[in-house]
Amino acid sequence: MVINMSGGLRTLYANIIVDISHESVDRTFQYIVPSELAAGVRVGSAVLVPFGKGNREHKGYVLKLTDVPEWAPEKMKSILSVIENETGVEADAIRLAAWMRERYGSTMIAALKTVLPVKRKVADKMKRTVVRMGTADEAGRAAERYEAKHQCAKARLMKQLVQHESLPYELVTAKLHVGLPTIRTLEKAGDVRMVTEREYRSAVPRAERRERQYPLSEEQRQAAARVADAVRAGSGEHFLLHGITGSGKTEVYMEIAEQVVQSGKQAIILIPEISLTYQTVMRFYERFGERVAVVHSRLSLGERYDACERAKNGLADVVIGPRSALFTPFERVGVIMIDEEHEPSYKSENMPRYHARDAAFELASYHHASVVLGSATPSLEAYRMAEEGRLSLLRLTKRLTGGMLPNVSVTDMREELKQGNRSMFSDRLSRLLMDRLEKGEQSMLFLNRRGMAGFVSCRACGYVMRCPHCDVSLTQHRGGRLVCHYCGYEQASPPGCPQCGSKYILGFKAGTQQVEDAVKRLLPNARVLRMDADTTRGKESYDEILSSFMNEEADILVGTQMIVKGHDFPKVTLVGILAADLSLNANDYRAGERTFDLLTQAAGRAGRGKRAGEVVIQTYQPEHYSIRYAAGQDYEGFYREEIAYREFLRYPPMGHMLAVQVYASDEEAAARLAQEIKRRTEPLVKEREVLVMGPAPATVRKVKDIFREVLYYKHRDHEPLLLLREETERYLEEKSDREETVLFDMDPMNLI
Ligand code: ADP
Ligand code: ZN
Ligand code: ZN
Repeated sequence: MVINMSGGLRTLYANIIVDISHESVDRTFQYIVPSELAAGVRVGSAVLVPFGKGNREHKGYVLKLTDVPEWAPEKMKSILSVIENETGVEADAIRLAAWMRERYGSTMIAALKTVLPVKRKVADKMKRTVVRMGTADEAGRAAERYEAKHQCAKARLMKQLVQHESLPYELVTAKLHVGLPTIRTLEKAGDVRMVTEREYRSAVPRAERRERQYPLSEEQRQAAARVADAVRAGSGEHFLLHGITGSGKTEVYMEIAEQVVQSGKQAIILIPEISLTYQTVMRFYERFGERVAVVHSRLSLGERYDACERAKNGLADVVIGPRSALFTPFERVGVIMIDEEHEPSYKSENMPRYHARDAAFELASYHHASVVLGSATPSLEAYRMAEEGRLSLLRLTKRLTGGMLPNVSVTDMREELKQGNRSMFSDRLSRLLMDRLEKGEQSMLFLNRRGMAGFVSCRACGYVMRCPHCDVSLTQHRGGRLVCHYCGYEQASPPGCPQCGSKYILGFKAGTQQVEDAVKRLLPNARVLRMDADTTRGKESYDEILSSFMNEEADILVGTQMIVKGHDFPKVTLVGILAADLSLNANDYRAGERTFDLLTQAAGRAGRGKRAGEVVIQTYQPEHYSIRYAAGQDYEGFYREEIAYREFLRYPPMGHMLAVQVYASDEEAAARLAQEIKRRTEPLVKEREVLVMGPAPATVRKVKDIFREVLYYKHRDHEPLLLLREETERYLEEKSDREETVLFDMDPMNLI
């Protein structure tokens, strides 16, 4: 009898990193895993290894386990021991990366690069501050003087310096959009001076901290107390802060952060990049002074690294920033708060495609910390968790600015057309726009989805002009150029239809540009500002447009979804929503949720000040439930209807979904590989009763000449999907010479 011993004797090797930094994750060393340790060594484990010439004991982390030696095994050293229950920021980072790899599918190296900060040696830079020279009153008079001369940037800065004796230079340039030359001119005029950090520290002790101007409401106080108590107790209780727009959620986050800091722990606050406006950032500076680190994408790598160092060295205990701020190296995380948690931007689009919400729960578990999800329109995921008791529900039901919820009306554009109204605005909206202009109040016009409406089609045969590389319709811009919004391809408008030759090949005119034009025709005296991806292309202009609308330099702001996100314009008393139903037609199971969110958030922009607000929703589908519930500001009603639909089709959160995306320059190759993957996983699919959709070409079949084929798996539980992914990964490893790229997306936010 021949006994095959090879299975039992196979040696296991571990790729280990000994220097935990972003730069060295590609540099691993292979060690033998002694058989007596094999059971205890996992990807992410901390181990002791002999290192270097003297074989000094060194701590390392396991990034990969394999039975393939990378070099001569007889010369390889062995792992000495496994370090159990390793703690600290490094161990957290490795553990989080290992979790990401497992959950979302990527290499350990890609996952580590996501969670570790990039080191960039920066020349010691002096921290600069802009300080006002005179008194607050003098600054106010200077502001008026500059305003009269239409020197907006100067006026903007001086206005802020009425309230604050000094401002960080970065804040002034990046968020207030006042450049260095302007500051220099003001310096010459004797209005301000620039100081470097050292001088600043002795001259002006710190940015003056201002206490809250108002007491917290009872609801706010209770919500904050519940969370702070849980954090102090280290209970690991998690919360959903469901507060209508304008109910003061930001104030609650700050109160929680303050109490958490007082109890000796640290707070992470995630905010969508787009909401990190000057106003928001300033509120945090005022409250936490230098103890807060603000991270945003406009920071240079060096600045970002500095922020991480400050956190690591205990110089900051509150961090606020977008998704990636989650990876701030804090030793004592007490609370992680996610504002506008329903925002799709919390899901990463790069590998690993993690969702910040799930990563936050994972990280919190290492510290017995609490997670707070905040939103006026919670994601179905969050509300479902609250229903199941996995999140404690905290409600904020009142608006605190004195304003009431706006009065919402829905106008049916089909009826308007029947009445002979061919303009972009319903009669009601036109009348209200005029009324606001007369009263000197501000209005916002929100056009649902840019691009989608700008396509050019033939009125005779229906032919649509498409990008030759991306298979999406081209958008017509001023001057008649046709542009692809995926790849930037441009061409001139054709003189006739390429298919039938008809002259009537025209743009479907409903971009923000056309809205602006229509407003100007209706109200020639109105000052109109427009904000969309075109007008904000320059890095600076986004905040600039917002600041100038805030300062009442315009009467009407026209824009896409960009204008609806969390901005507080007290003077806005009218919001018009055009083409409310356009986003319902998107080919995506979240279309109903997106539409409801957008409409609710947009409506919430009205009446944030003392005066009541009015909202007009224009639509061709007034009977759709997303529109009906948004008009009624009825989240619960919407949730009931939407969750029933998700349950029925087993879409998240009533199940999980794994997308396998195959990319290739050859369409057939992509389709073939997708089919092969499907065939390979068939036994598992049968055994675990997984639902399969596809493979099929993606909705947008190709982008930049790369074809995209997608396969979806659905199941109530995660586990079978993880097994399917592993099986696919094994299969792909066998076919390592392939040219196609395969990416995984667990619970995708967008179906491609
Ligand atoms: P949300 O994030 O819930 O939409 P914000 O936190 O932006 O709301 O607050 C909306 C407005 O209410 C802000 O102008 C804020 O200054 C104000 N506010 C917050 N809390 C209070 C309070 N307790 N009393 C009075 N005004 C408040
Ligand atoms: Zn035609
Ligand atoms: Zn293109």
